[in-house]
Amino acid sequence: MTNPATLPDTFRAMLLTKDGDAVSANLTDVPSRDLPAGEVTVRVQASDLNYKDGLAILGKLGIRTYPMVPGIDFAGTVLDSSDARYKAGDAVTLTGWGVGERYWGGYAELARAKADWLVKTPGRFSAAEAMAVGTAGLTAMLCVMALEDAGLTPDQGGEVLVTGAAGGVGSVAVSLLSARGYRVTAATGRVASEGDYLRSLGAAELMDRAELSALKKPLEKERWAAAVDVAGGATLTGVLASTCYGGHVAACGLADSAALMTSVLPFILRNVTLHGVDSVQCPAPTRQRAWDRLAAELPDQLLQSGVQTARLEDLPRLAGEILAGQVRGRTVVDLT
Ligand code: NDP
Repeated sequence: MTNPATLPDTFRAMLLTKDGDAVSANLTDVPSRDLPAGEVTVRVQASDLNYKDGLAILGKLGIRTYPMVPGIDFAGTVLDSSDARYKAGDAVTLTGWGVGERYWGGYAELARAKADWLVKTPGRFSAAEAMAVGTAGLTAMLCVMALEDAGLTPDQGGEVLVTGAAGGVGSVAVSLLSARGYRVTAATGRVASEGDYLRSLGAAELMDRAELSALKKPLEKERWAAAVDVAGGATLTGVLASTCYGGHVAACGLADSAALMTSVLPFILRNVTLHGVDSVQCPAPTRQRAWDRLAAELPDQLLQSGVQTARLEDLPRLAGEILAGQVRGRTVVDLT
């Protein structure tokens, strides 16, 4: 456990509190003695903004215990560790595990966590770059791994679809798949404003997402060799109906809807496989494999053009924007 003498008396944090049904988010100085129990204390240098953070800040996530420090991801430097795997000065990254939902998260200058939840930040990435990846990037890579572990290879040809392409998960997925040599079609609701950006990430084709949700028949014309879907709902229904014989679909999100109305026909007549992808409880070995691949494969282009930087005070505004589907790519929160 950290020697209190090594910690400042207080640290700056966003604190969510609840009064009746109303959740409010305030920047405040929190006493360091209030940090939760945990083996590793981290000086947070960067966090990020995910869809789930937007829900948390605006009181829509169903957090059970307040006060809560939101922020489902953070990266920084170890101040102190009682676990032999980490020592002071190590660069570490945490995504998921219920941090920012059930445990205090990354919108703070200090965080404390279980050693099992951390990964060593890959040497290629600064803390800010690790957060440009964050949960969204990890999830995008887990989707790519799900498709490739099932046998997908770039040399098979065919189109690979990414939905919600201009968002966080979608942007990283477009970038990773294009860099691997896949022919990527980016489905977006923002063709006019984000088309150039998506082409700069490597998208070969752009598609208005309304075309997917308009596909209502159980089986439509076969088009996708594989797909990464962040939307669920009518979007995923359309994706499944238009996936080619033997194709694979990785589903990770519900930006459209948590509902899924489909038939068994894509599965039993076209041998389509639907893979569920979760990043929050993803086991450590898979998580490490994904981070290793991200460090090796993520194009610089994504880190350069797909990232905006924000401060804690910007987050209430950005929370509304991400829930409205208006944020491009990834948002890094600078805590230095
Ligand atoms: P973002 O808000 O950054 O991206 C979501 C994108 O989805 C939007 O930018 C928009 O892209 C698209 N979209 C928005 N509304 C709709 C709609 N009604 N129909 C179809 N597409 C829509 O969020 P993230 O990338 O961070 O997360 C995406 C989803 O993945 C979320 O549902 C999130 O909860 C989930 N997720 C799941 C994880 C897991 O472990 N399973 C981890 C991380 C995220 P465009 O404008 O290009 O159409």
